[in-house]
Amino acid sequence: MAFVAPHNRRKFRPSLVLAVAKCGIRHMLRPFLREGTAFVAILLCNEDDIDYYRKAASALLEDPMPVDENGCDLVAVLAITADSFEARSVYTRFRYARRIVLITNKLDGLPADLIASADIVSEIAPPTPEHYRAGAREAKVAGMTEEIAEFLAPLPFDTVATAFRVSRPLAASVRHLLRAQQEAAKAGPAPAKPSGPRLEDMAGYGAARDWGIQLSEDLRAWQSGDISWEDVDRGALLYGPPGCGKTSYARALANTCGVELVLASAARWQAKGHLGDYLKAMRAAFTEATKKAPCLLFIDEADSFGSRDAPTSDDHHRDYRRQVINGLLECLDPSEGREGVVVVAATNNPSVIDPALLRSGRLEKLIGIPLPDGDARTAILLHHMRGQKIDGDLKRFVSATRGWSGADLEKLARDARRIARRRQAAITEELLMEVMPARHVFSTAELRYTAVHEAGHAIIGVLLSCDRLTSVHIERDVPLHGSRLVVGLAQFEPDDRAAKTAVYYDARIAMLLGGIAAETLVYGCGSDSAGGDPSSDLAIASDIATRLERHFGLGESLSVELGSGARPLEYLRDRDPELRRLVDARLKVQFERATALLTDHRADLDRLIEMLVTKYRVEGAEVRALLSSTPRKTASQDVTASRPLPLSTRDGERQRNH
Ligand code: ADP
Repeated sequence: MAFVAPHNRRKFRPSLVLAVAKCGIRHMLRPFLREGTAFVAILLCNEDDIDYYRKAASALLEDPMPVDENGCDLVAVLAITADSFEARSVYTRFRYARRIVLITNKLDGLPADLIASADIVSEIAPPTPEHYRAGAREAKVAGMTEEIAEFLAPLPFDTVATAFRVSRPLAASVRHLLRAQQEAAKAGPAPAKPSGPRLEDMAGYGAARDWGIQLSEDLRAWQSGDISWEDVDRGALLYGPPGCGKTSYARALANTCGVELVLASAARWQAKGHLGDYLKAMRAAFTEATKKAPCLLFIDEADSFGSRDAPTSDDHHRDYRRQVINGLLECLDPSEGREGVVVVAATNNPSVIDPALLRSGRLEKLIGIPLPDGDARTAILLHHMRGQKIDGDLKRFVSATRGWSGADLEKLARDARRIARRRQAAITEELLMEVMPARHVFSTAELRYTAVHEAGHAIIGVLLSCDRLTSVHIERDVPLHGSRLVVGLAQFEPDDRAAKTAVYYDARIAMLLGGIAAETLVYGCGSDSAGGDPSSDLAIASDIATRLERHFGLGESLSVELGSGARPLEYLRDRDPELRRLVDARLKVQFERATALLTDHRADLDRLIEMLVTKYRVEGAEVRALLSSTPRKTASQDVTASRPLPLSTRDGERQRNH
């Protein structure tokens, strides 16, 4: 049973802004406010307002703080910004509290399980004049007329909070605000162009940087009348893992182009809930961009749009998604054109984007933002050091930060600066290493195990010419705390020229099973590293085999069944034992094939393992040279012509599940 902890804090009267923010929170949480109701609410607002809403939610739910019989808090109010997510403490508070409010400016970056646990995910409605009148009553602020409430409602909380001092009467605060507005109007419009780094100043953007610089030149040529709008790229879809710098790219691109940036988020539009409100928010962003043209409209979290083709068993959901995509297509392709508005969308997962959005004249350019390489990581670190020098050659830093995103590097820079400040010491490479999260350094035996697995993928991939091996590598160490750690990777480049046949898909399955086939050959048995996760070797191989049987008519029957739900292929296998048998049989054949090929090429396998444990990374060309120098034996009939498009270029990786 819950009880309320005694507390002896004096009750303070809230400030006007806090009382107004409280009205906003109360409005959002109304269905849950009955005492004892358990809930999880994820509420979205501007970054600048997060602190106000956090304090307001605390005042509403935590004052006094209810605790359980063990003294644990029953309410958790958390504020999370893009760079303040401390997974451990958030999960701990989620575990113990019954009433949870999480306030954030961005859904992107929050773990999917937290979002899925929410009873409500919604944008906090902006303050209304009515909120100001109610807030004034609660904060005991006299003189809140209807006109004043209407004047204050659209202003940022920061502006109102700054003008409104406890000792100053309301009318005087409003006069201050009016005067400030008049001064600003006299000084002319605020500089329209955003400030901050330009693309030219930033590292780690590769092809995206080149595209952006080209776009800025085209926009200038269009502005000076040298080229027509038809000659300017109308939009792009940026994709890359969270924290790789997609939003930062958009800001820098706007600076380089010298145009305004309108920031929008598909997930925020979606959080409006009803389809009508969703479409209204979407159109409003495009209207704002049109008014500000020339400008850049950035749409974050574009995967929230989904695809009209994505399988779902729910007709209502399919219809909702169709209308959203149609609405977006109208905005991207309006009958009057959208001269002067370049649209850049961003996603972590481009495979779920509706193909119609990527056609010419829409988000026509697909640009990957990779995780930064060693040079880019050093440049990003120095960028976030804000001019502070680092002693040391940074070789250890480069090696220890493989796989880190720009966001990780920014956090490292911030932590290092803070500790150096406290210690009043210089920032050294030693200090960076100290600040980094603890890592597990693999033993020689562990490294060899990973090398065996990756060498198996690489050799089968090259022998069966399924896609083109670019490189194979193993990690020397990994962060100690992480849910899905990649410890090695055989990386393939898609070859999208030829038609896809069952021969190609079977070769890919054999390549995927090459990892455990090599383990079995060398150690006598396989490990758990090839399964247990939707992106694992066995899961991908099972999905390919299922698609051959049920999607492509390349198995035992020609009829097509697409499946439904979040894992449609698994759904098909679950309800059809015959399909499961066919998939299993195909996997076994390909596993035996991979084992036979590796047995024939045992000397090459051993050589590649040695190369990996010695230098950790081997280029695709080296593996091809290794294999072509050895005469092929019985496996030669297995070698097929190069074939196209894999489902993923990251397969063939070995993971650790902690
Ligand atoms: P995304 O939109 O891909 O999730 P963001 O653009 O929000 O990533 O980046 C998160 C943080 O990481 C930002 O605060 C930014 O400063 C930093 N960051 C990411 N990439 C870079 C980069 N190439 N250069 C400098 N900082 C970067």
